[in-house]
Order: sequence, then C-alpha cells, then structure tokens
Amino acid sequence: MSDLTKLTAVEIAGLVASGEASAVEVTHAHLDRIAAVDERVHAFLHVDGEGALAAARRVDERRAAGEELGPLAGVPVAVKDVLTTKGVPTTVGSKILEGWRPPYDSTIVQRLRDAGTVMLGKTNMDEFAMGSSTEYSAYGPTHNPWDLDRIPGGSGGGSAAALAAYEAPLAIGSDTGGSIRQPGAVTGTVGAKPTYGGTSRYGLVAFSSSLDTPGPCARTVLDAALLHQVIGGHDPRDSTSIPAPVPDVVAAAKLGATGDLTGVKLGIVKELTGEGAEPGVMAAFRESVDTLAKLGAEIVEVSCPHFRYALSAYYLIAPSECSSNLARFDGVRFGLRVGDDGNRSLEEVMSLTREAGFGPEVKRRIMLGTYALSSGYYDAYYGQAQKVRTLITRDFTAAFEQVDALISPTTPFVAFPIGARTSDPYQMYLADLFTIPTNLYGGPGISVPCGLSDGLPVGLQVMAPTMADDRMYRVAAALESVVGTFTPPAL
Ligand code: GLN
Repeated sequence: MSDLTKLTAVEIAGLVASGEASAVEVTHAHLDRIAAVDERVHAFLHVDGEGALAAARRVDERRAAGEELGPLAGVPVAVKDVLTTKGVPTTVGSKILEGWRPPYDSTIVQRLRDAGTVMLGKTNMDEFAMGSSTEYSAYGPTHNPWDLDRIPGGSGGGSAAALAAYEAPLAIGSDTGGSIRQPGAVTGTVGAKPTYGGTSRYGLVAFSSSLDTPGPCARTVLDAALLHQVIGGHDPRDSTSIPAPVPDVVAAAKLGATGDLTGVKLGIVKELTGEGAEPGVMAAFRESVDTLAKLGAEIVEVSCPHFRYALSAYYLIAPSECSSNLARFDGVRFGLRVGDDGNRSLEEVMSLTREAGFGPEVKRRIMLGTYALSSGYYDAYYGQAQKVRTLITRDFTAAFEQVDALISPTTPFVAFPIGARTSDPYQMYLADLFTIPTNLYGGPGISVPCGLSDGLPVGLQVMAPTMADDRMYRVAAALESVVGTFTPPAL
C-alpha cells in the first residue's frame, strides 16, 4: 500500500469506504508520522492517540455493519487549539488555560465527530490567535516544513504545518484577520475563511467576536471544500450564525477542477498589489493571473480606496473586542490560578493570575483595546474604526457590482526566518495587510498555492461576496488544476 499520509482526504475516504484500508490503519500511519517528525515541526500541542484510534475503530465497525459512511469518514483531522474539545486539553496557546479540559465540544468538533473524521489532536497557535507566526505561542514556535528555520505563519501555524508535513490531510483553523489564509500561503497549503456566520463560533475561544471565523485547511481545494461542507451551516447555539445552508462549495470545487473559467469576471484589487508586496510574490501572482486568463476568466483591475485603512481599523476593533472577551480569564473560572494562599484578596489573585498567565502580545492588545474603548477616546479610536469598517464594506459591495470575485496575493511576503519580526509588532502586523479587509467586510476568502519565490510557497487569495463561498472555490480549484499542489522538501 502506498504511503497513506501522502494521500488526499478524498483518496483516504475512498480507501476506507471500499475496505482497501481500515480507518485504524490510516490513523496509525498518521500517528507514526507525527511521532517521526513533530519533534522538529512542533505542529501539535497535544496528540490524542487513544481518542483517535477509538474514533477510527468506530468507523471500521460502522463500515463492517454495512452503514453508509459520510464523505470524510475515517479521515484524520488536526484541530487548532482554539476550539473546545470535551475532556481533551484546550490551551489557546496560552499559559492561562494550561491544564483546562473543557466539559463540552465546540460545534465544529461535534460535527467532525458526527462525520466520522478522526481527530488526531490539537495544533499550536499564537496565544489567543493573536499573531502571524506562531512565535507568540506560550509553548514554543512551530517550524515551517519548507524550511525549519522559518515561521509557518499564524496564528494557525500548527494546523498549516501539520498539513505540509503530512501529519494530517485535513485541519481546522480560525481566521480573525488572516490566520487561516496566511499560514496556508506560507506553507503551500489551502486555507479558506468562510463567510462570517457561515461556520459556528460555539466553543471557539473568543478573540474578536465580530471577526472570528473557523474554517477548513487542507492540501487540495476539493478536500477543503468537503471539510467546509461538513463543519458549516446554521447553529442555533451561535447568535451570529447565518440561518441558511452552506453554498455548494463541493460542486463549485469540482466545476473549477475542469479548468474552465469562461464567463467568470475577476478583479485584481489595485490596493492589494504592487506596493507592499515582495517582487517574488508579485511575480508568482502575475503568472497566476495569466493562467486564470488562459482558463477563460475575464480580468480587470478594480480600486477599493479604503483598503489602505484596513490594518489600522483592525488593530483598534480586534483589540477592543479582545479586551472585553479576555476579561473572563480571571483565575476563578478556568485554568491557571496564581497566589491563592488564603491571605490575598480576590482582586490580587486575579491580577497575579493575569500577570503570569498572559504573554506580552496579549497584554499589549488588552491595553490597546482598553485605551481605545475608554471614555474620551472611544469616538476618536473605536468609533472612527467602525466608520472605516463601513467604508471598506462599501468598497467590497461596489467591487462586486463589477466582478464576480476579487484576487490578490494572500500575503505581502513569503515565510520569514523565526525571530525576524518578533521585536517589532508593526512588522508582524503587516503579514495580514492583504487578508484583513475581508474580515472587516465579513465575506469569504481562500488562499491557494500559486507558485514559489526563492523555493518558498506563495499564495493567491480569492475573495467573494458574503454567502458566495462557492465562487472562490471554483476559481481556486481552476488555478490548482494548472499549477498543481506543492510538496515541501522531505523532512
Ligand atoms: N495576525 C492577525 C492578528 O494578530 C490575525 C490573527 C487571526 O486571524 N487570528 O490579529
């Protein structure tokens, strides 16, 4: 049998359904791979070998009993440590939740279980999903399988690295400002941010509630679409969940794979190209634009003038929401508690716990947000940022009157060396220059590998109108049908 870890999710599900491979065999192959490489990659914070094998056994039993299996049954999946998993540690990359075993599953994880996927474990991330490199994890950085001295992106670098290192064929991420798409781009994998409200936030540890969006990560566009279909759709437990079915992303990915984009009009966003992007990134992007045109797409340039303020608006809105959300980590309800010796007041214990439990970037964001929301500054900072958010949404709406989808490079630069940007927060924030507008608008965006620059992967981003997630899958799959998938040098 060929190496099971090198297969796509579709191929694995096919083997399990036909009985050519058991889910237990598939799971063992991936656990062995993790054991062989994860010391160097550090994609996982927790590997749940026993849980995975138990889930795999159930799939094999169901098959033996003649039950109909879903399209991803028996396929291993790695889950970003931002989603609660019943009885399985959930840290959000933070010391403040060390040792916490949630009493319930997030909706996404529940749906993964119901679909018969096999959860291998929890992946590394920047603390509370704040970062672009996974270097802000309290548990040490993840290494990019393309070059172990480089970052795998963030905040979901663990999920992306697990895919690129063949530790898992599928993974879950969450995207607040780019944390699914940017790691996808710099690891040569596919990452999709669904329409806000298209995937449930129930059990997603909140960073910025009006932006947080869980979504699928995979090595191929079709695998990502299948995962999107399984995890997406209305959830009454999430008040911002959209009460509508998931657009048919699987059919769209299959249509795209035929390589025909006749009748599709794409807009290159002027403000997300040229200035700010590395020449190697722009070269790969331009080549992909030519490819998309050859596949029949009509390509025009569109201007979204307010995108230039997106980063500034995001770094007021996201920290403001985080300063409120993270108030719940008080040393009383979850995880860490410091200094509770019977002599200290509740406030002292809270303060000591937060001082010890939060890392420097999280503290920076809480302080920024508290300042932006304080009376006297509220209108000038938070209020102003909200107005900019409206203008950015209007830019998208106007653009989608002219074109079906928008395209840009996913990131301005390829994976940088570990340590290169940690001392300058602004340099780190720039990693999301091209992904943040989509989050402020709420629409879907996908990153698909489009080429290499100096031997490192470059991603192309496709952005679509809200609830038109299918469109971005079609375009991404069409590009993939020509450029193929990307394999890092052997680990
Ligand atoms: N890098 C961005 C930040 O630090 C986005 C993070 C995310 O999408 N979770 O906020």
